[in-house]
Amino acid sequence: MPGVLLVATASGEQLAPTTAELVGVGVRLSAELGGPLTALLAGKNVQGLASSLGGFGVDNVLVADFQGPTPASPEWVLAAAVQAAKQSEPTAILLTHGGGGRDLGPSLAYKLDAGIITDATSLRVDNGHLLVTKPVFGGSAIAEFSIATTPGVVTLRPRAFEAPESPSAKEAQVEGLSVPDTGGAIEVLEEIREQATTGPRLKDAKVIVSGGRGLGGPENWQYIDELAQVLGAAVGATRAVTDAGWVPPSLQVGLTGATVAPDLYITIGISGAVQHIAGISGARNVVAINRDGDANIFKYARFGVIGDWKQVVPAFTQRLKELRS
Ligand SMILES: Cc1cc2nc3c(=O)[nH]c(=O)nc-3n(C[C@H](O)[C@H](O)[C@H](O)COP(=O)(O)OP(=O)(O)OC[C@H]3O[C@@H](n4cnc5c(N)ncnc54)[C@H](O)[C@@H]3O)c2cc1C
Repeated sequence: MPGVLLVATASGEQLAPTTAELVGVGVRLSAELGGPLTALLAGKNVQGLASSLGGFGVDNVLVADFQGPTPASPEWVLAAAVQAAKQSEPTAILLTHGGGGRDLGPSLAYKLDAGIITDATSLRVDNGHLLVTKPVFGGSAIAEFSIATTPGVVTLRPRAFEAPESPSAKEAQVEGLSVPDTGGAIEVLEEIREQATTGPRLKDAKVIVSGGRGLGGPENWQYIDELAQVLGAAVGATRAVTDAGWVPPSLQVGLTGATVAPDLYITIGISGAVQHIAGISGARNVVAINRDGDANIFKYARFGVIGDWKQVVPAFTQRLKELRS
């Protein structure tokens, strides 16, 4: 059937915001392809989320409820996705390029002998063919690909797509999916969740203060934290900084880190390497503080300060504190 299958994911007891983005794309593509939009919900205790998928505009929900005492293994989720693809015979399979989808997408494509495009930033249908756009060469060029196989698997860059604005009154048809025995080669023994930080989450933040190697050392990171706190902002970093161990890898923004789309992205001591820029193309306003007026970051900045951060940042933070009090 020329429809779309998407792999939904949960965040705690709710659908992950990225699932709504998949639905937004899925609704449009399935209409263009002339087939239904099916969602797979696979994992432990996911049954309760099926109705909210209907509310987003999904036609059918396949629920694979994992019954074991441990969380479902990636191997089991893969088996569920293969089964869902066989059952729904979609033209396109959509996953999020993050969380489990980043790993599941290629494994699923391999199992289905299907073509895959990862980290897509735009999708369209032309004459029944799926055309997928994504940044290439570290974000310095954009390429459009056609997937020659049916189905075609696509992982979507988080926050590159709009979620449906208002939930629809539609009710999805919900069906249980039985997952073939995977033999239990992999068993999840323990799930360790990243320690929650106090500020907003990097990926959802409206304002981000990001630091680079120009800070000079981990002892100066407090200036980034302090400014972020005053602004109610999340903290980001370049790979130079996370590789050096100044801050955890989870703060890395860029090609091999988080993709962010804040209203305001303040960079301090960041040169603006293409791999960093690849993660901030969705930022509405970039502010750069760098002592090198020729630094690449100024090409992307709406506002810039050419100067030593030590002169600029503490004074700026102090002034903000005064204005806020
Ligand atoms: C495959 C691959 C993937 C990568 N993925 C990522 C990624 O996801 N994210 C990422 O960020 N990088 C990534 N990188 C690394 C990237 O190429 C750069 O090396 C990195 O982004 C540079 O970080 P930086 O801007 O902090 O450091 P630098 O490039 O060293 O820049 C430091 C800047 O600080 C300025 N400065 C120095 N002192 C001061 C001062 N006192 N006051 C003000 N300014 C000052 C300097 O003028 C300079 O512009 C990747 C690289 C590769 C090869």
